[in-house]
Amino acid sequence: MIVAIDGPAGSGKSSIAKMIAKELGYYFLNTGSFYRAITRAQIDKGLDPMDRESVLNTAKEINISVEKGNICIDGKDVEDVLHGPDIDKYVSQVSSDPRIRNIVDTLVRDIAKGMDIVTEGRDTTTVVFPNAECKFYFDATPEIRAERRIKQHPEGQTYEEVLKAIKERDYNDKNKPVGALKLAEDAIYVDTSLLTIKEVCEKVIMVVRTKNSHKGN
Ligand code: C5P
Repeated sequence: MIVAIDGPAGSGKSSIAKMIAKELGYYFLNTGSFYRAITRAQIDKGLDPMDRESVLNTAKEINISVEKGNICIDGKDVEDVLHGPDIDKYVSQVSSDPRIRNIVDTLVRDIAKGMDIVTEGRDTTTVVFPNAECKFYFDATPEIRAERRIKQHPEGQTYEEVLKAIKERDYNDKNKPVGALKLAEDAIYVDTSLLTIKEVCEKVIMVVRTKNSHKGN
C-alpha cells in the first residue's frame, strides 16, 4: 500500500504523514529530504547551489541513504541540518533539474520497494508513485503556512521573511518543467487551513482503512 501526499511547503504534510505512518505501522518517506540533502552537500563543499552541472556532480558523487528514518549523506546523519534558511533558499532550484529529479526518483522508488509506505513531497502522487492506492493533496493559505513555519522554527526569520520565502518556493515548485506541484486527478484535496492535525490524520486514516478493506475483499 502506498499513501502519497503532495502539497506546498507548510501544508502539514510532514507532521501528518509521520503520524499516519506511525498509526498504520507503515514506513515514512519524505521525498523533499533527498533534495535538501543534495543542497546541503553542495553548500558544505563550498560550491554554488545555482550551478546545475556542479550540483549534478555532487548528486552523483554522494551516497544518500535513510537510516532509522533519518537521511544520511555517505553514512553521516544530516537530518538536523536540512531545514535552515540556506537550504530553503536553494532547494527548489536544485530540484528543478530533471536530471536531479531522476536520481531522487530512482532512490526513492528503490527504498520503497515491497513496503507499505506513507510518502510526501510535491510529485509523489503524479510522477514518483502515479499508481499509489491513496493520494492526497494538502493545501493551506500562504499566511497560515508561514505562521506554522514560525512556530516550528522560531529562531532567526521574521514572519514577513518566511511568508516571502514560502511564496517564492510555491512559485518555483508549481512552475518546474518536470515534477511540478499539481493536483493529481485522482487525489483527495484537503484544505488544512482550519483543521487540526488530529482531524486531518483521522480523515486520511479513514480513507486508507477503507481502501485496505476493499483490497481484502
Ligand atoms: O517538502 P520540503 O519542503 O522539505 O521540500 C523541499 C523542496 O524540495 C521543495 O520546495 C521542492 O522544491 C522540492 N521537492 C520536490 N519534489 C518533491 C519533494 C520536494 O521538488 N517530491
